[in-house]
Amino acid sequence: MRVLSGIQPTADSFHLGNYLGALRQWVRLQETHETFYCVVDLHAITVEQDPKVLRERTRRSAAQLLAIGVDPAHSALFVQSHVPEHAQLSWVLECQTGFGEAGRMTQFKDKASKQGTDRASVGLFTYPVLQAADILLYQANAVPVGEDQRQHLELSRNLAQRFNNRFGATFTVPEPHIVKDTAKIYDLQDPSAKMSKSASAAGGIVELLEDPKRSAKKIRSAVTDAGREVIYDPEGKPGVANLLTIYSALTERGIAELEAAYEGKGYGDLKKDLGEVLVDWVTPFQERVRSYLDDRAELDKVLAAGAERAREVASRTLAKVYRRVGFLPPG
Ligand code: ATP
Ligand code: MG
Repeated sequence: MRVLSGIQPTADSFHLGNYLGALRQWVRLQETHETFYCVVDLHAITVEQDPKVLRERTRRSAAQLLAIGVDPAHSALFVQSHVPEHAQLSWVLECQTGFGEAGRMTQFKDKASKQGTDRASVGLFTYPVLQAADILLYQANAVPVGEDQRQHLELSRNLAQRFNNRFGATFTVPEPHIVKDTAKIYDLQDPSAKMSKSASAAGGIVELLEDPKRSAKKIRSAVTDAGREVIYDPEGKPGVANLLTIYSALTERGIAELEAAYEGKGYGDLKKDLGEVLVDWVTPFQERVRSYLDDRAELDKVLAAGAERAREVASRTLAKVYRRVGFLPPG
């Protein structure tokens, strides 16, 4: 069984939502599946980028993935632009995608409306098709992502099925692997919005590479309702529910156990303790990231080996696709 997933190098640091919603699953799945994980730099240029910063963020992203536990002995860890088949398959799939179909993607509508539709790039519009190419190239059965990616995954499935119907069995139809409990981590200052690299204000997002003391402070200042009781009620107490979700995921303690532990105590105790849990987890993580970044030559070697493994699979799929659509093989 194959797994593929990717993350954008669009910020200096990943955030807690990325980790709990997706990256933790990446690490778990590598024990039981053949896993391909990439830093999707082609996706990152759908919004404006500074070339030097993008290069730096790409390395930092790879270092964070290694520090989280992505193991190059198990997983092919690579940079998307090192495998040209992603862009090549994307073109073919774009020609199978309806204009209206692409226009219904809610993430495009959100991000484009923020930039103004005239300024949003065509790349931002076709982004979900490139994502389908990322997945279908590896014949992935499962794609570990957060809830916000469900609609894009549905498009990948539709494109795989459409292509198979039209040209004969070519692609595995992928399933989203979304772990319900942590599928959507919310902004600490606005518990109705998802924690996001590009949309969250500084106080709403826990960055894995920021000063851990700052993260603990953000947790202590998280928006909660006027009540006192620590109970899990996502409708009535979305802020507290979000903190309990994070606490439970980081400690592997069940929500009911945490509710019992905080009976008779208040939000202040919960926030203070969660801040400490976070500091204890993130401090050694940051040390590991630093040591991966200190040895750039080794990091680049890991990425080169990952790209080579990825290309073996990707080039086979692309050759098949090119035959199927009727391209003349080079003589
Ligand atoms: P951007 O705002 O630039 O789109 P992002 O925070 O959404 O950044 P991505 O690189 O787009 O990060 O997503 C990486 C992975 O993290 C995806 O699988 C996505 O579903 C997941 N993810 C992102 N935000 C959250 C969140 N708040 N809760 C759970 N999972 C999340
Ligand atoms: Mg995103």
